[in-house]
Amino acid sequence: MNVVHVIRDIPQLQWERNRGLRNLTSFGIGGPAQVLVRVNSVDALMRLQQRVHAQGIQVTMLGGGTNVLISDAGIQGITLKLGKGFEYYKVLSRDQDCVYVKAGSATALPAFHRWAWRQGLGNTADLVGIPGTIGGAVAVNAGTRTRAIGSIVSRVGLVTTAGELVEMEAEAMRFGYRTAWIPDGWVAVYVIVCLAPSISHEERAMREKLIDHRLATQPHGSKCAGSFFKNPDPVNGPFAGQLIERAGMKGARRGGAMVSRVHANFLVNQGWATARDVMELAREVHERVKALTGVSLVPEVRFVGKGLQWEVQ
Ligand SMILES: Cc1cc2nc3c(=O)[nH]c(=O)nc-3n(C[C@H](O)[C@H](O)[C@H](O)COP(=O)(O)OP(=O)(O)OC[C@H]3O[C@@H](n4cnc5c(N)ncnc54)[C@H](O)[C@@H]3O)c2cc1C
Repeated sequence: MNVVHVIRDIPQLQWERNRGLRNLTSFGIGGPAQVLVRVNSVDALMRLQQRVHAQGIQVTMLGGGTNVLISDAGIQGITLKLGKGFEYYKVLSRDQDCVYVKAGSATALPAFHRWAWRQGLGNTADLVGIPGTIGGAVAVNAGTRTRAIGSIVSRVGLVTTAGELVEMEAEAMRFGYRTAWIPDGWVAVYVIVCLAPSISHEERAMREKLIDHRLATQPHGSKCAGSFFKNPDPVNGPFAGQLIERAGMKGARRGGAMVSRVHANFLVNQGWATARDVMELAREVHERVKALTGVSLVPEVRFVGKGLQWEVQ
């Protein structure tokens, strides 16, 4: 199937064939996209969705690429990125409890947090230090141990595989620990969040604490995707990092992949790691932790592309 042929006359999108993806991810790993498409308007996305799904072309959505491991063999079909037309935020309305802000899905989460903070709007302290886009954050319900973005989402705009724009209430998104319900192939195009009209002293203090905690416990400037595994109990622990450390895996290496010496739940690319290296290391971590504690760690990172699947005993 000639993928480009199916989409080439749709305005407001650009495509590249055989485009390397490693520099579009925080891991710095991944083979090429058969076709990388950047779409710049909701209309163009609706047309693209209609056409490609009708033709059975696989579409893989990529946000900021900070929570994914992409296969060395790359991604078949279309790898989709939302372009500049999806980078915006604006105040929609206010009531006593909420300032409702609509943000395009490609908006960088750190930029959104900084803007909200400067405006004196609360509820975003838990998001400080999380990279990626606001659309990606909603798709994985990003957050901290105590609170995630789902708790401030009011509604989400999505383009379905049939090319329709629908708006879902937060309840319908079924936010859970690093999960949200988005049907396969649907793309979140905007998010409406409820920000507090002011920032409380407690929230200011919590933000400071979170920043200090990150600085003290996480590797900086490493090529990684944040926590690799979910915490078996996200609130009370034991946390995945503690289990991995107990299993003696801090500093373990496979090829170019290494368990960070700073935070054992961060698997890092030393510069030459392949997806295969990371998978092998992750499987070994899983095996050792299971043998020692009986806990079967579940990856938080999403695996995408040809032949990359999480299979463990
Ligand atoms: C140093 C570092 C620290 C981190 N700290 C945290 C943390 O504290 N808490 C936390 O939760 N995460 C953390 N992460 C992981 C990551 O930053 C978040 O999960 C982030 O929200 C992912 O957003 P993204 O845009 O990069 O998504 P991507 O990694 O690009 O995609 C993640 C998933 O979401 C899907 N997706 C992306 N955009 C859309 C869309 N518009 N519509 C539908 N589906 C979409 C993708 O298909 C994929 O399945 C960290 C990562 C790093 C590198």
